[in-house]
Amino acid sequence: MTIQIQHTRLPNSLQRRWSVLCLLLVALLVGSIGYVSGTSAAESSAPPGMVPVMIGTSVQGRSIEGLRMGWGPRKVVITGAIHGSEGNTAVLVQELIAHFATIQHLVPPDVSLYFLPVLNPDGLAINSRYNARGVDLNRNWDTDDWQPDTMDSAGRVRGGGGSAPFSEPETAMLATWLLDLRDQSPFPVTTVFYHSQYPPNGLVMHGSVGLSISRAFAAIVRYPASDSSTGFGAYRVTGTAPAWCGRHQIRCFEIELPTRANVSPASMLRHADAILSVLLWEQTQPDQRCFRETGMCIAGRLRSFWEQNGGLATFGLPLTRQQALDAANPGYLMQWFERARLEFHPDNPAPADVKLGRIGVEYLEQQGRDWWLFERSAPQDGCLFFPETEKNICGPFLATWQAHGLQLDGRSGITFAESLALSGLPLSDAQPETLSDGQTYLVQWFERARFELPLDPAPTDQAQISLLGTKMQVRE
Ligand SMILES: [Zn+2]
Repeated sequence: MTIQIQHTRLPNSLQRRWSVLCLLLVALLVGSIGYVSGTSAAESSAPPGMVPVMIGTSVQGRSIEGLRMGWGPRKVVITGAIHGSEGNTAVLVQELIAHFATIQHLVPPDVSLYFLPVLNPDGLAINSRYNARGVDLNRNWDTDDWQPDTMDSAGRVRGGGGSAPFSEPETAMLATWLLDLRDQSPFPVTTVFYHSQYPPNGLVMHGSVGLSISRAFAAIVRYPASDSSTGFGAYRVTGTAPAWCGRHQIRCFEIELPTRANVSPASMLRHADAILSVLLWEQTQPDQRCFRETGMCIAGRLRSFWEQNGGLATFGLPLTRQQALDAANPGYLMQWFERARLEFHPDNPAPADVKLGRIGVEYLEQQGRDWWLFERSAPQDGCLFFPETEKNICGPFLATWQAHGLQLDGRSGITFAESLALSGLPLSDAQPETLSDGQTYLVQWFERARFELPLDPAPTDQAQISLLGTKMQVRE
């Protein structure tokens, strides 16, 4: 999605005020002056329509603050200079503030947009990556992999992770503030961390937002998108903000600018476009229902279908937003769930307006396996035989197949047609397979599902229904 934006000039007085800020940041960058107090966003007058936001103070007592625009429930946070040596990120966020002041009418009314240009003011003041105590503020977060010593491009940094997770006021206060934002709203909080530098073309790392948003962002700013959630393989990163976000249902991703120089005006406008695309990405629908576990929402016909057909137990949690099924037909939507892909075809009468993707077939195709080559069987006693595919469903697999179905006739109980509509025809008989956890299972493939029965301990009387949607989204 590309949004065309006219770059309107700021009124002169406003332009002068923000230019002064930008100049100061540029001066800081080249080290010609020290940190100048009294030039913070809160103390200078904010552009009309924006209000100051205070996060806290740094080790040396400098304010960590920014501006807020809009009062909607969906929160999007744009941050710069978590590394003080990356001052061009602070300059970019300041320029974005000035630009968004002129395009406030384009910001959806259900959004609150926050700009925090400088997360590490002490480091910025002396052009240092680290805070005043020598801690890397993107290695000090409470994650599974936090380490006291860290790596950077020059090698090992003793104490770079801090004495403990959140030992630093800058990270502790930002984390608390983000958790508060999250708890104020049923919608996911999305946070962008700007970094530099990643030559020659920059980089977008998807962190905890998922590949679809980060790839769209990357396409608009014309940077490559990394398939890695954080880090870029050059050295091991630990205790990062996006890793922490992922543990707290906050959606964070990182943008590396290509160089340490200020981005061009044209590039700044592309970043503004990309941020607008994030704002529009999940525009609230009036009837949406959101899930903190994945930060995703269901709405409209896909929501009612999900709810009428067993919801969580049948399909699992939503893994993606609703997205266009087909670019040529904008009303056609699809959405991934843990066990299904639901597709909305508005031209069909209900209930045939929602179809289930044939993810069993697709998953086998992804693995390069041809189910036509699976062994065929003859009808067996006590089993359900399908002449269409020459396969039997037996025992625990049959019990599972019959116990799950769509709701087609409005009556309780699950009919053959309802089971067939949900799981589909068997593509294999039950067969032993070693799955990704290294364990061997009895596995039976269906058009829209995979059933699994552990062989050790002894088989149970119902098979498990695999989270094929989750497995396929991992490889998105
Ligand atoms: Zn950085």
